[in-house]
Amino acid sequence: MSWSDFNNLNISQRESPIVLPSYSVTSDILSFQVCPRQYGFFTYRGYKSEHNVQFWFGTIIHQVLDKLHLQYKGLLNPLLVNQLPSNEDISRYFTQINSSLRARGIRAYNKENENRALEILKRFNQYEGLRLYPKIKDTECAFQSQRGTFILKGVVDILKDISEEIIPEGYEAVEILDYKASKNPLYQENTPQNQRKLRNYQFQLLVYAQLYRERTGYYPKKGILYFLNDLMDATETPHSPEQILMLRNQATYVVDFTNEAELDQIHHAMTEFESVVQQIENCKQVDCWDPPQSHPDRDTCDTCDMRWDCPHGPPDLRYP
Ligand code: SF4
Repeated sequence: MSWSDFNNLNISQRESPIVLPSYSVTSDILSFQVCPRQYGFFTYRGYKSEHNVQFWFGTIIHQVLDKLHLQYKGLLNPLLVNQLPSNEDISRYFTQINSSLRARGIRAYNKENENRALEILKRFNQYEGLRLYPKIKDTECAFQSQRGTFILKGVVDILKDISEEIIPEGYEAVEILDYKASKNPLYQENTPQNQRKLRNYQFQLLVYAQLYRERTGYYPKKGILYFLNDLMDATETPHSPEQILMLRNQATYVVDFTNEAELDQIHHAMTEFESVVQQIENCKQVDCWDPPQSHPDRDTCDTCDMRWDCPHGPPDLRYP
């Protein structure tokens, strides 16, 4: 056979696959809702933040907690299975993860910041470890759903088994739990910023419930946001069970998905998130990232590298 035998061979060109853009519930949609300008500069354009302290705080808390869950399951050392990690274990994981974050240019502002994060982790382990770790079904669970022209992605920190509870039809014996490295806005000053923050977090849980249902066919029974910074409100340790309960109530925000009023909100949450994606797409087209109407909140603006020339920057341009 010669090459000329293929002279009339007609091969149709393979169509290039359509790749839909994907948007993460937290790092895209919630970030854009907090401040489009910060999102545009650091997430879209990829500028490097000098300190990125909020990112450092959230990352180290999540990664150390993940190690604690794995250790309890015996996946890091079979001899330690079903044992509550010690404070020494927490300090060791903290140091390892902090070093690797520092090597990537992600660091805390100062030692005080580091000590606070470490203390939060020790308190969480002490107050919640034995209640939570044995019931963890899965961690860092990724969900996604195609919504027209984009893919919506979410990662749920914990799926907790709640099979001891009564589970209505259409639901699974699962609670979705998401850690927040901040304080519960419900117990903060009643400002429009805190109200908006709480609503965005509620919507995050509702969207996670919907993504869970699309994957499994069932809703989870509950969603919990755990605001770890609230654990620092108590000055002394150890606490009585009553004190721990009070602290836990302050640190958690619960959404009961069996409540019809909550479920009704899912549609609004999905619509709102889709409209935020549209706003992001519009900003991308012209690469224009304006700050929000009023500045998001003190902590966010105080640690933002763009505050020096931001029209909504803090009135007293002080160092954090
Ligand atoms: S200072 Fe505040 S409003 Fe301005 S870009 Fe930073 S976070 Fe946004």
